[in-house]
Amino acid sequence: MAARTPLMAGNWKMNLNHLEAIAHVQKLAFGLSDKDFAEVEVAVLPPFTDLRSVQTLVDGDKLKIKYGAQDISAHDSGAYTGEISGPLLAKLNCAYAVVGHSERRQYHGEDEAICNAKVKAAYRHGLTPILCIGEPLDVRKAGGHVAHTLAQLDGGLKDVPAEQAATVVIAYEPVWAIGTGEVATPDDAQEVCAAIRGRLAELYDDTVADAVRIQYGGSVKSGNVAAIMAQPDVDGALVGGASLDAEEFVKIVRFRD
Ligand code: PEP
Repeated sequence: MAARTPLMAGNWKMNLNHLEAIAHVQKLAFGLSDKDFAEVEVAVLPPFTDLRSVQTLVDGDKLKIKYGAQDISAHDSGAYTGEISGPLLAKLNCAYAVVGHSERRQYHGEDEAICNAKVKAAYRHGLTPILCIGEPLDVRKAGGHVAHTLAQLDGGLKDVPAEQAATVVIAYEPVWAIGTGEVATPDDAQEVCAAIRGRLAELYDDTVADAVRIQYGGSVKSGNVAAIMAQPDVDGALVGGASLDAEEFVKIVRFRD
């Protein structure tokens, strides 16, 4: 089995202005050591307006923290007022682009076709998509959580070739656990993450399935991250609220301590 480097990514959502972003990344840089970066990949996902500030700090101080955007347009340029394209993000050296976060699906009507177009847009410009999938509460209560999540996986990766799919990051984020304080049990997380890996093997092959990093997201904190990370098919965490506290995020990155 491939050794997958865990990816801890902080989704700041619509928080921290560009000055606060600098202070926050500085705190992370002070808190994290070379040993941390040798064991774990660390990324921040700030609002678009912060990306230039974060880039300047990361480049200027040669920080090992990666960064990316919380969304990406399906289009590369043109009359799409308010959207931010892959070329604009690539120019800022973004490593990642989140696609299909449940808040985008819920408040902006993003469906599988849009998510699929955004995944492809990310790859066109050298960005790694973090494709978010996961079920709402009613679907989980009805026992349809695995089928629902796998249908989102199929839709998001439709016609994405194996060489690209091998590098995608999948974030399993049960909607009922996001921002609610209601964390999935480690067994819940493992059940769905294992099913995602199984589907990747069906869609592609074992090599791709083994290579893909699958994060869990939903009310991750320093107090619950170790048990979730102990699951064999969980390769990292997408952290919302708790990533806004630099000390707490450092503790999450150090989940092995
Ligand atoms: C998220 O925004 O992706 C998320 C998981 O949020 P939280 O950690 O606050 O539940």
